Amino acid sequence: MAVRLRVEVLDNCVGCGICWTVCPKGVLTGTLRGRAVVLNDELCSGCFSCQENCPYNAIRVVVKQQP
Ligand code: SF4
Ligand code: SF4
Repeated sequence: MAVRLRVEVLDNCVGCGICWTVCPKGVLTGTLRGRAVVLNDELCSGCFSCQENCPYNAIRVVVKQQP
């Protein structure tokens, strides 16, 4: 069964910029004090750096199984 990674930014994101700075795959972008934006989660490698480094627990990487 194949898996797909889905990257979700939650409403409590404050736009600190950490996640789009640490992402090695260019999945994320944003503007400071805005909210992080997911450009293309098909590029995500599943390293979880964004999730682990967000001080607000405002981003999560969800593993979805595909039939
Ligand atoms: S690290 Fe967290 S709070 Fe900062 S921009 Fe990313 S999702 Fe938002
Ligand atoms: S899990 Fe890694 S590759 Fe995927 S969006 Fe987060 S930092 Fe980028």
